[in-house]
Amino acid sequence: MAASLLKKVARTAFDKGGGVDVARWMNRKGLRILMYHRFRDPEPLARQLRHIRDHYAPVSMAQVAAWLSGGERLPDNALAITIDDGYRDFYQVAYPVFREYKIPATVYLVSGFLDRTLWLWVDQVRHAFLHAPPQTYQADFVGAFELGSIESRKRAAHAVAEAAKKLPDPERLAFLLQLPRELRIDLPAVAPAEYEPMLWEEAREVAAGGIELGAHTCTHPILSRLTSAQQLAEEIAGSKRRIEAQLERAVDHFCYPNGSTEDFSAEAVAAVKAAQYRTSVTTESGLNYAAADRFRLLRIGVEPGLDQGYFQRCAAGVGI
Ligand SMILES: [Zn+2]
Repeated sequence: MAASLLKKVARTAFDKGGGVDVARWMNRKGLRILMYHRFRDPEPLARQLRHIRDHYAPVSMAQVAAWLSGGERLPDNALAITIDDGYRDFYQVAYPVFREYKIPATVYLVSGFLDRTLWLWVDQVRHAFLHAPPQTYQADFVGAFELGSIESRKRAAHAVAEAAKKLPDPERLAFLLQLPRELRIDLPAVAPAEYEPMLWEEAREVAAGGIELGAHTCTHPILSRLTSAQQLAEEIAGSKRRIEAQLERAVDHFCYPNGSTEDFSAEAVAAVKAAQYRTSVTTESGLNYAAADRFRLLRIGVEPGLDQGYFQRCAAGVGI
């Protein structure tokens, strides 16, 4: 308690004493790439974009690719914004705000999600655990969970999804296939409204409006858990082809699902290069300098609901 109060006092002193400004200046040569996923309301995002407009030089991933290929340098305090997955709330909530502030952004699409042949598997797990009848769920790879209160269900869904990410991919797919039967629940074939993807038509509209669209695989597997090289190539090159066909424009940027170092293998990086992407992003945290590997770019995870002081420290590169 005392320690957390002290930390809070220290953070307030840091912010009031211009600590964020000093940190931003010290980190001015590092490119920040922010990572978003979901958007509920426009106003919290607008507050963050106002801060970015006032204190940073927003850049596109095309500019990042050019810089890291030996082209034009980026301005000081360069900042790129990325959004993973391609949920419909990007189109409905965030896109108008990005337009209003004229700030570039890149959205990484899961092609099978936009095709509506699947919904994101972590959302399926969450939905199944939240809506199943009360029971005990038990699986060898993760243990037993009592499904009672909403909180216990959320905890179970999170623990089970995290454990499933570590399974070899064929086992993860078998687990997903069995899950509705085991939990005695019917999973809808397409995502319910809260988990739905953009329509291709909406993706074309945002692309025409200046949003860059990248690829984030066909089905969102953990690439390092795939057991077939052909499947790896298909997830990486196939999603690019599919999005290019739908948008009739080049897809130059890739995003590794889950994205920590253990989630993508050297083979995945090689497949990204072979598919002729120009950059790819991870979820490893940090700033990127001129010598950065453009196929292992670091990002800073944020969301619109963050406390504004915390958001400003993240963007400045403090404590990331
Ligand atoms: Zn994702």
